[in-house]
Amino acid sequence: MTERRNTRQHDAIRATIETAGRPLSIDEIHRASKAVVPTLGVRTVYRAVRRLEEAGEIARVIVPGQTDRYETATAASHHHHHFHCLVCDRVFDVDGCPGRLAAMVPEGFVLQHHEITLSGRCDACA
Ligand SMILES: [Zn+2]
Ligand SMILES: [Zn+2]
Repeated sequence: MTERRNTRQHDAIRATIETAGRPLSIDEIHRASKAVVPTLGVRTVYRAVRRLEEAGEIARVIVPGQTDRYETATAASHHHHHFHCLVCDRVFDVDGCPGRLAAMVPEGFVLQHHEITLSGRCDACA
């Protein structure tokens, strides 16, 4: 594989994640990037995603019981939560935070971090 082809694939994968507006799975990144680079293989997507994650350009979104999703580091730097559609399996960003979660932890515990994933049906599936 030539370096130029590598770069083109890598750029397509990065652009897919940057323009999605929501966290994407490897499969979703693969499908969308293939529209730009039809020969793109899923293993190349895995490699590129790992490199982008190591470079701090994208961040992993953990959805309990689901495959990992990925969002831009810029999106990840703004505190937000996620909604998982149980029908189409897409993950969306949710603005805002219930806050006041420190009140839930037992006496003497110190809350440092939280993840909230809502689930249900998205507007397209409701
Ligand atoms: Zn849906
Ligand atoms: Zn929060």
